[in-house]
Amino acid sequence: MPEVELKTLHLTTPFRIAHGASSTRQVVRIHEAGAVGEAPFVPYYGEDAEATVAWLRGVKEIMNPAPAEAPRAGRLALDLLQLDLKCRSAGVPLSSLIPATLPRREGRIPECRSFSIPTDLTSFARLVAETAKQFGVLKLKLGCGDLAFDEQIVAEARRAAPTAKLLADVNGGWSVKEAALMIPRLGRHSLELIEQPIHHAGGLEAWRELRKALPPSVTPLFADESAQTHEDVAMLKDLVEGVNVKLLKCGSFAGAITMIEEARHHGLRVLLGCMIESSIGVTAGAHLAPWADWVDLDGHLYLADDDYSGVLFDASGCVEMPDQPGIGASRR
Ligand SMILES: [Mg+2]
Repeated sequence: MPEVELKTLHLTTPFRIAHGASSTRQVVRIHEAGAVGEAPFVPYYGEDAEATVAWLRGVKEIMNPAPAEAPRAGRLALDLLQLDLKCRSAGVPLSSLIPATLPRREGRIPECRSFSIPTDLTSFARLVAETAKQFGVLKLKLGCGDLAFDEQIVAEARRAAPTAKLLADVNGGWSVKEAALMIPRLGRHSLELIEQPIHHAGGLEAWRELRKALPPSVTPLFADESAQTHEDVAMLKDLVEGVNVKLLKCGSFAGAITMIEEARHHGLRVLLGCMIESSIGVTAGAHLAPWADWVDLDGHLYLADDDYSGVLFDASGCVEMPDQPGIGASRR
């Protein structure tokens, strides 16, 4: 019988985004024969951790695919365990499962570091300047409820890191009207992209309204919370320039590949993201890094007690994958 555990991980400092602040995260893990799968619980998804654990404990044949109605985090944890087992026994990394038809990038892949919504801009600017010494891509969380402060966050970051590539993630914190005002206004700070400016609850209609209100040439917009599946990607194809792909949203590694394929089919760019989770989940996702345009895989770096190690970032902030079969995460 595989061992299933619900684990609480602690953040070094509370992480604040438009959805709220948090200082702990739960993940579900499933272990079998030295292999492991993990999936995080995200506060704003409202998924039931206990029910997920109970479902995983009830799985009789661990190599059978999970039914679609199973809890999403349970499906992902089981999927990653199955792939870790399979790839370990074949002696190949998870990335070997990605079809050769999907175009991949060559060379070193810069990782993006994210900043939670600050309260004090002076210490924020110091942190940005310090981080920019290693990382050339920085992501700013906006949507604090005060549009002027949102712009100050961007202006401070730009001043503190004049040559960094800056991305903004609003996590749905603006109304359509606010987004129509802010997106052109932030143009002067040369952002590479703005992620999920409006709330996903507004559906496609809100994205259409926003596009109508914006001039044709603005900072590229990416969908995150609005793009949960490859079907969402197809529906958003004329409304955004890119999508954020995360393993948890897809519920499986193959689901993330399908989402990337769908995005490429429509000429969209891909930002590879993760949740706040341990090195197990982040490293599993990191196998997709060469197939993404932007890589935002720092979820494990917010943890005070990440008990696994896997993907690392080198001195110039580029992704370094472990040289191990399977997911490649190992217990510290
Ligand atoms: Mg996001």
